[in-house]
Amino acid sequence: MACIFCEIVARRVPATIVHADSEVTAFRDINPQAPTHILVVPNRHIESIARLTRADGDLLAHMIEVIGKIAEQEGIAERGYRVVANHGEDAGQSVAHLHLHLLGGRRMGWPPG
Ligand code: 5GP
Ligand code: ZN
Repeated sequence: MACIFCEIVARRVPATIVHADSEVTAFRDINPQAPTHILVVPNRHIESIARLTRADGDLLAHMIEVIGKIAEQEGIAERGYRVVANHGEDAGQSVAHLHLHLLGGRRMGWPPG
């Protein structure tokens, strides 16, 4: 079955891409929950954070680094932002392709809903 985020990475489905390199793609969430809501995904299909192993350490570090750079570009680095990974049903994961949410530009509540 086609994976929507693989399709976005391959540019077969349009998205507002804010960063792309050989390992990761970052694009704006179609249903933003904050003034800045960007998804950072590995170009390679990985189902969720639960599938990551130590061998993916460089990829994960790169994803976090990209998030930091995007946060600077978006002007939210100083005031702060939240990074979220949902895994599975209880957390509400709705797309089975690993993605880190970058959320910022407003005050966040805690605990999350
Ligand atoms: P999850 O609920 O799995 O943690 O997050 C999936 C996110 O992907 C949701 O916030 C949803 O709005 C976003 N999303 C789902 N389909 C698309 C799409 O086709 N394009 C974009 N840009 N975002 C999508
Ligand atoms: Zn995929």
